[in-house]
Amino acid sequence: MQWIEKELQLLAADSLERYLNKSGPVAQSPGYISRGGRSMLNLSSNDYLGLTQHPAIIETMRQALLSEGAGSGASRLVTGNRLPYDLLEGALTEWQGCQASLVFANGYMANVGVITALVGREDVVFSDRLNHASITDGIVLSRAEHVRYRHNDMDHLRVLLHKHRDKRRKLIVTDAVFSMDGDQAPLHELVALKNEYEAMLMVDEAHSGGVYGLHGEGLCRQLGLQDEVDIHMGTFSKSFGMYGAYVCGSRMLIRWLVNKARPLIFSTALPPSVVAGTSKALALVQAEHWRRKKLNEASKLFRSSLFSSGFNIAAGDSPIVPLILGNNDTALRFSAALEAEGITATAIRPPTVPVNTARIRFSLSAAHTDKDLADAVSKIRLIGHQLGVLSP
Ligand SMILES: *Cc1c(COP(=O)(O)O)cnc(C)c1O
Repeated sequence: MQWIEKELQLLAADSLERYLNKSGPVAQSPGYISRGGRSMLNLSSNDYLGLTQHPAIIETMRQALLSEGAGSGASRLVTGNRLPYDLLEGALTEWQGCQASLVFANGYMANVGVITALVGREDVVFSDRLNHASITDGIVLSRAEHVRYRHNDMDHLRVLLHKHRDKRRKLIVTDAVFSMDGDQAPLHELVALKNEYEAMLMVDEAHSGGVYGLHGEGLCRQLGLQDEVDIHMGTFSKSFGMYGAYVCGSRMLIRWLVNKARPLIFSTALPPSVVAGTSKALALVQAEHWRRKKLNEASKLFRSSLFSSGFNIAAGDSPIVPLILGNNDTALRFSAALEAEGITATAIRPPTVPVNTARIRFSLSAAHTDKDLADAVSKIRLIGHQLGVLSP
């Protein structure tokens, strides 16, 4: 086992070793996190709508815990399929206006389950280079040919689709909003290419579900493309403030997944209280429009304030605002300086992002106040000057 120590030393030498952060005993208020007994502004959570501490969700979970018990006791196909699942899947189908829905234990398992169920050795998957790791892992596990196209490059994708046009099944898969850059996939063009080359199209709405669409249905719905996307996937761990994931599509697709998606078949069902809490979260995502509106306005202001200060900030309108620093060590020092100022914002380094694009990935929440964010911008500017990231 000595090799592990050597490898760890190499990681540390490149400022690439990762650590689990210690939490503190302080109760957390929305938008904040406790670290080592201090309450810190949390600019690194995916709690976009500020629902993780919602009293109505907590109360629903408490009631379900009392009526349904702690664990589900088995996988869904055995005896774990309790009433809260049927209620949630019915509500999801109505929300998305699709034929059927299926809940998975989390987004990682949903992506692995769907991709391995749809393609195999004789098939090919076209995947954006910046897609989430769970998509990559699903493709590798499926044994299909893994073809990566340059980020959002539709000309490149077309060439690759043409090259592999004779494969048995073709699947194009993309994040709707990319996790580390906050930019959007060109969904109109993807739909056109999928139709032209008779491929299946799967869209991962992990970062866009709850955030886009009149009732939080996601980016596909916002663009009017919900009926053109074959497999619509999203997670409950971000905007919903919960845990779990969903896949929406045709009745046939869902029947197939129930038979073939191994993470669904060979793993225990989520605790019923979690599923019940998610139904409550879904109702709030649909009804509380003010959360989306507030998040949207805060994202615009935060992004433009940092951009006009002279930081390297990509354009976009999502609550994910990456501040690109390049160097791993600068990113770590920036994050540490923010920590000293009472702000938690994690440095993201390779292999999560390409080499020389280390960054601070800010993610905003409807739980943040205008003052929280204005203060944060001042501190970020100050640190930018101190570290020489901004010219004087
Ligand atoms: C977070 C995320 C996932 C995984 O979802 P979990 O529910 O946290 O497992 C999948 N895809 C994307 C794009 C994500 O950002």
